[in-house]
Amino acid sequence: ARPSVAVLYICTGKYTVFWPDFYKTFRQNFLPECDKTFFVFTDAPAIEYDTEPDVRRIYQEAYDWPYSTLKRFEMFLSQEEALKAFDYLFFANANLLCEQVVTAEEFLPRTQQGEVLLVVQQPGFWDKTPPFYSYDRNPKCRAYIPYNCGRDYVSGGLNGGTSEAFLAMCHTLARRTDDDLADGVIALWHDESQLNRYIAELDPAQYRLLTPAYWYPEGWHLPFTPKITVRDKSRWIDMTAVKGKKPE
Ligand code: UDP
Repeated sequence: ARPSVAVLYICTGKYTVFWPDFYKTFRQNFLPECDKTFFVFTDAPAIEYDTEPDVRRIYQEAYDWPYSTLKRFEMFLSQEEALKAFDYLFFANANLLCEQVVTAEEFLPRTQQGEVLLVVQQPGFWDKTPPFYSYDRNPKCRAYIPYNCGRDYVSGGLNGGTSEAFLAMCHTLARRTDDDLADGVIALWHDESQLNRYIAELDPAQYRLLTPAYWYPEGWHLPFTPKITVRDKSRWIDMTAVKGKKPE
């Protein structure tokens, strides 16, 4: 049987601009051996392609940044009952493009070897060592990683796993994020810091780690052949309006 995959996609506010090209390229090239359904969390009353049979538009209130990204685990859990029915779940940032074929063999966690999650090395850190990663170093934060711990620095913008493992992770990280907020703490890189702490706690045999070929920022020069590219957001949206500060 073909594996079933739910692609989790958030586009609130101005990020809806990325949806049409995301959908066209992922529908065509991402995991062609799988049956995919796109869960699109958006505050828009309608989006392109939302009448396609493989698209489910979920109303999601637009939060101000950084809650728009921080609260994602809670957003996914609002659909937990529907998501449980899929074999695999993957989250993808709004501004990704999949212009090359990405096969199930190269991308799915190899469950027969014990892998249950899939993560991708962050291109800013793939050639660095853990003390130099931008882990959260605040001991009061639940995403805290001491300087002598951790192995990998992974991207918050493309990750997934078996639906059981991914939903278990969402429960843990939604709770940690809320507990941090109750203490007045926000992790350095939000969901990405929480994810990195979670991955650091696992046995490396439990996750598949891919190179930045699968998270290749446009305009960068990395020693990988791009498979999934990251569009430069500032070319498409005014980031000062989103983040209330000048784009980095
Ligand atoms: N996002 C959104 N609306 C917003 C801000 C963020 O839908 O107003 C979602 C969107 O999926 C985006 C992701 O959150 O790709 C990460 O947002 P952000 O731009 O903060 O992070 P980065 O691109 O730096 O990972």
